[in-house]
Amino acid sequence: MRFTPQDEEFRAQVRAWLAANLTGDFAALRGAGGPGREHERHAERLAWNRHLAAAGWTCLGWPAEFGGRGATLSQQVIFHEEYARAGAPARVSIVGEELLGPTLIAFGTKEQQARFLPPIKQVTELWCQGYSEPGAGSDLANVATRASLDGTEWVVTGQKVWTSLAHVADWCFVLARTEPGSRRGAGLSYLLVPMRQSGVTVRPIRQLTGTSEFNEVFFDGARTGAANVVGEPGDGWRIAKATLAIERGAAMLGLQVGFRRELEDLLDVARHTAAGSDPLLRDKLARAWIGLEAVRAYALDTLGGADDRAEASVLKILWSRWHQALGELAMEVLGAASMTASAGRGGRPPQTPPEGDDLDEWQRLFLFGRAETIYGGSDEIQHNIIATRALGLPRE
Ligand SMILES: Cc1cc2nc3c(=O)[nH]c(=O)nc-3n(C[C@H](O)[C@H](O)[C@H](O)COP(=O)(O)OP(=O)(O)OC[C@H]3O[C@@H](n4cnc5c(N)ncnc54)[C@H](O)[C@@H]3O)c2cc1C
Repeated sequence: MRFTPQDEEFRAQVRAWLAANLTGDFAALRGAGGPGREHERHAERLAWNRHLAAAGWTCLGWPAEFGGRGATLSQQVIFHEEYARAGAPARVSIVGEELLGPTLIAFGTKEQQARFLPPIKQVTELWCQGYSEPGAGSDLANVATRASLDGTEWVVTGQKVWTSLAHVADWCFVLARTEPGSRRGAGLSYLLVPMRQSGVTVRPIRQLTGTSEFNEVFFDGARTGAANVVGEPGDGWRIAKATLAIERGAAMLGLQVGFRRELEDLLDVARHTAAGSDPLLRDKLARAWIGLEAVRAYALDTLGGADDRAEASVLKILWSRWHQALGELAMEVLGAASMTASAGRGGRPPQTPPEGDDLDEWQRLFLFGRAETIYGGSDEIQHNIIATRALGLPRE
């Protein structure tokens, strides 16, 4: 990807805006939030996200007719790079902005677009993704949550699991079986369901990091309007897969800028401790640096190309493995000290399980990294995709 002079002008504009606005109370939000740290300062990050929206810095890639900025792919990359470089806090609007919004722009009715897109853009309604169930993860077509029409409303019953940010979401896009007796992808519908109603119970799941950012979600006769189905009833599998295809994109380039900052910080630790003189650790740190160069090159090379699922899988494996390995390397660099969770323990006895603030950033990175080769499609599933799509091997 080559950046034009206009792109560089845009970069200067983004940089200047962030420098002028990530100040005052917002300055304290630098570095807050993101995977494994979603518990951090949610209310303040929501306020920041609305501040971004008011200045037109949300939904950059959406076409202008839908309230977006119609930004080119390179501008989106630049925005995310500059955003990460400035250490701006993780946005709370990502699921709506990056997953549901583009899905509605592609498949929604005019009424759905008019009803749901503006609150996503203004960050007045937050979304979560209700796909996975206890019996449907990698095998998503096995969804058992069911929904049926009752007059002017869908009635939804079933259980979702691992639903990120459901505890703060106003709405959920739910994959549900609407044709009784149907199997696999047939007979599923893509429903938009309000979370704040008596038929919805959200139960946080405690993670390895001691915090809870994903949840079990129980739908027990939950209701939503008959018009809140995206695409035709029964055509939800096609729409759900389209949302999954959107999951990669320009934001990845921002992610790797964040990775670079983490690597720089770790190098800084190594420079000032004995780790920096350990020949094996020096070798691993150099390899980590090379690995990140490769991730960035591959991401830039494949971004915006044909919608190639094998490329998306390669990139997912590259970045998740790299980041997971960085967490492991951090534990080695920090040595024995990394084995005690003590950062914010207060008076609690050392043998109690860690809570969110007990962990320092390296411990959190190490522990949360385990999730990265699972969510967005596990490593094994990515390998299967590469085997069939890129290598032409027979399906399992
Ligand atoms: C941090 C995090 C956030 C998440 N957020 C959301 C969310 O917001 N919304 C949502 O709907 N879901 C979410 N998920 C769920 C995620 O999509 C699933 O965990 C993932 O798809 C794997 O499904 P599973 O957990 O049921 O594992 P399973 O599918 O049961 O897999 C278990 C193991 O078997 C392997 N396996 C399964 N099938 C095959 C196969 N055919 N060949 C080889 N190996 C196989 C897997 O790789 C894995 O190692 C999240 C998960 C995590 C970790």
